[in-house]
Amino acid sequence: MTFIHLKPGKDKPVQHHHPWIFSGAIEKIEPDAPGQPGEVVVVKSSKGEFLARGYYNPHSQIAVRLLEWQESQAVDEQWWRRKLREAVERRRELFNRTDTDSFRLVHAEGDWLPGLIVDKYGAFLAVQSFTAGIDKVKSIMVDELNQLLQPAGIYERGDLSTRKLEGLASANGPLAGEPPPDYLEIKENGFRFLVNIPHGQKTGFYLDQRENRKVVAGFARDKAVLDGFAYSGSFGIYVLAAGAKSVVSIDSSTASLELLKKNYELNGFAAKEEELVRADVFHTLRKYRDDGRMFDMVILDPPKLAPTKAQVERAQRAYKDLNLMAMNVLAPNGILATFSCSSGVSAELFQNIVAWAALDAGREAQILTRLSQGEDHPVRLAFPESQYLKGLICRVI
Ligand code: SAH
Repeated sequence: MTFIHLKPGKDKPVQHHHPWIFSGAIEKIEPDAPGQPGEVVVVKSSKGEFLARGYYNPHSQIAVRLLEWQESQAVDEQWWRRKLREAVERRRELFNRTDTDSFRLVHAEGDWLPGLIVDKYGAFLAVQSFTAGIDKVKSIMVDELNQLLQPAGIYERGDLSTRKLEGLASANGPLAGEPPPDYLEIKENGFRFLVNIPHGQKTGFYLDQRENRKVVAGFARDKAVLDGFAYSGSFGIYVLAAGAKSVVSIDSSTASLELLKKNYELNGFAAKEEELVRADVFHTLRKYRDDGRMFDMVILDPPKLAPTKAQVERAQRAYKDLNLMAMNVLAPNGILATFSCSSGVSAELFQNIVAWAALDAGREAQILTRLSQGEDHPVRLAFPESQYLKGLICRVI
């Protein structure tokens, strides 16, 4: 057994059940040469008292990710199986829904399983392991998922830059059962989508926006909508179904727009060529402004503009410019639905950025609704950092 002793003054976050210990908080490790990356260790206070158990990785800046705070509770195979079962059981209401067959089953730290994401897409599961600690128990987790859910197949999407931070190679491929088809049809709020688990973005679909799509669509009747960062067309399909007059979709990726077209058709809408714009949103918005082209509603759902904390400063300006340019093409009383999925940008900061954009655009605006990630992406109170998705629906006067 390896013991991690913390430096004096570093106990508090652990006692408050925050799940991360940075390498700088560690005083010493006993024995000197700990075992494999991912090994379960005991964390002790500077005074030598038990604090928690977690898994350790000497190659990661987040040296320990905590799992269990009760001393009597060992972290063994049964522990892992139980945590996974509990996460799945907490989604019972989602399993009972007949209009939706795809949602997140395990949201890493938010479900007390740091480093592990499991998404359900119809009969298939997509798994992401971000850490050596999860890699070590992957086969146990796959076995438990098979027992709990009997999926048609479990596929790993481990081509993540975050794995590199842990010193891990990318891992991509089937873990159990059949490989998923390239176009797997799923159901979300009664809409149909094709999801490409092996090659799509993230694990194939942005499940975190499920409820937000409905809310945004509630403002779309009779509107000329611009769907920036459209990916596979989900927002566009919801707003068209809610009575939007037209949707222009912008995405820089050809594959995304191909998928978008298929998804539109699947839901009974035709995506007109002139309304599909394969281009950079920043450039396109600038061009629309110069051309005097206006919209009644703009949706902005960009990728993480601040993938790390160090990039937050620069990302603030990018978010500001983006929102400013969106306001420039919004007709009076137009609706801006704007999102940020950078966890380094807090909800408060994001609101300030949008306010700054309005000021620079010379527009007044009201917040109509504040949005976050869906309930299947829960945020632990002890780990507010896991609230990464923020959205504002604003009326821009
Ligand atoms: N709104 C989508 C998810 C958007 S993900 C949904 O709910 O499904 C972000 C998308 O932005 C990706 O499809 C990516 O290809 C695209 N993208 C990234 N940078 C871009 C840029 N500068 N201009 C246009 N599209 C971009």
